[in-house]
Amino acid sequence: MEKEVRVRIAPSPTGNLHVGTARAALFNWMYARKNNGKFILRIEDTDLERSEERYVRNIFDSLRSIGLEWDEGPYKQSERLDIYKNYAEKLVKSGQAYHFEGAIKFKTPSKTVKFNDIIKGELEFDTGLMDDFVIIKSNGTPSYNFAVVIDDMEMGITHVIRGEDHISNTPRQIAVYEALGAELPQFAHMSMILAPDRTKLSKRHGATAVSEFIEQGYLSEAFVNFLALLGWSPSDGEEIKSLQQITEDFELGRLSSSPAIFEFDKLNWMNGLYIRTLPVAEITQRAAKYLKGHELTEYSQEQLETMVDAVRGNLAKLDEITEAVSYFFGGDVVIDEEIRKTVLDTEESRNVLLKFAEFAQKIDYNNPEKIHEQLGEFRQKMKPLKPKQVMWPVRAALTGRTHGADMAVIIGLLGRGKVIRRLSI
Ligand code: GLU
Repeated sequence: MEKEVRVRIAPSPTGNLHVGTARAALFNWMYARKNNGKFILRIEDTDLERSEERYVRNIFDSLRSIGLEWDEGPYKQSERLDIYKNYAEKLVKSGQAYHFEGAIKFKTPSKTVKFNDIIKGELEFDTGLMDDFVIIKSNGTPSYNFAVVIDDMEMGITHVIRGEDHISNTPRQIAVYEALGAELPQFAHMSMILAPDRTKLSKRHGATAVSEFIEQGYLSEAFVNFLALLGWSPSDGEEIKSLQQITEDFELGRLSSSPAIFEFDKLNWMNGLYIRTLPVAEITQRAAKYLKGHELTEYSQEQLETMVDAVRGNLAKLDEITEAVSYFFGGDVVIDEEIRKTVLDTEESRNVLLKFAEFAQKIDYNNPEKIHEQLGEFRQKMKPLKPKQVMWPVRAALTGRTHGADMAVIIGLLGRGKVIRRLSI
């Protein structure tokens, strides 16, 4: 029988879950799913000063929010300190480590370490150039390079899939595996994620934590789809895919070894696409938290869905919906000076609005299709004015905007009361 595939992510809780770690989580998770393996979560919290419980919670919540539940763990390194000490003592006994001013240091052997990285290919390092390094610090906590090996070994990790910033640590880690006579996992070092300006992705480019993206109204489906395309490409070139479809198609060997660019524009485009194509009831439900500030009781659930459907075509992020639907709520609408001056306060517009106010009495408000028809008739009646000359002032008076959702839908939702009131300006 083939050995069970066991992979992991090992974030340090020194900040909210970063998109880079989320991508590592996604690729590990998919690799586990695809191979009927296990995806393990380990919290590397041995840096007692910088680790915080709120970040541990953020890591859990963020992973769950994008659908990457772990099969085993969470293990916490801070609860495993004895294990690291025992292994360190073992190495001291076998002469491969030694006590040094309170700490324990690993005696780095002088040799050539070679490994075949699944993504980077054959790599070779000369450990003769590396100093002995601390494995247990004087405060009793292990160093990263030691704890990571002990845990990966103890947890039976078969594939270490992580960021290429850890390549330079790998020869030291391999030396520890070898000193303990343990079998090596396979390594796969993913290229880094860069910002569009080709520098390290950082706060000045925008959000970097998964929870920030989710908070801003990126849908988890879109976000995961986007993450998957950072350095990996689908075999059929079709980029819009569900997590399940991507997982079926996923192969570590197809990960690119050059940096992946985090294109915010592409993410926005993709997110807009998901906002437009997921079932409207679903989008309405997810939009609820951005609509809290509005008096939702003015509308039925069905009307709210119609409203969301009417505006979602122009949204890149779900948080934009707060503003996009604002004119549906309250009796009056805020009209900015510029629009008032250019669109409403002309003789032609005043005349259109006067006629429309009369016409509005006869609108069949509960029948959107009929409204459509009736608007057509109104435009006919207003000839030789062009449709735009007619509908612009009407839209501006009813919504305070010069463009947006379908007017028949807007009028149907606003209803007689709001329409008449807004026309009497
Ligand atoms: N704690 C390390 C990090 O967050 C883990 C690296 C690894 O996967 O080995 O970068």
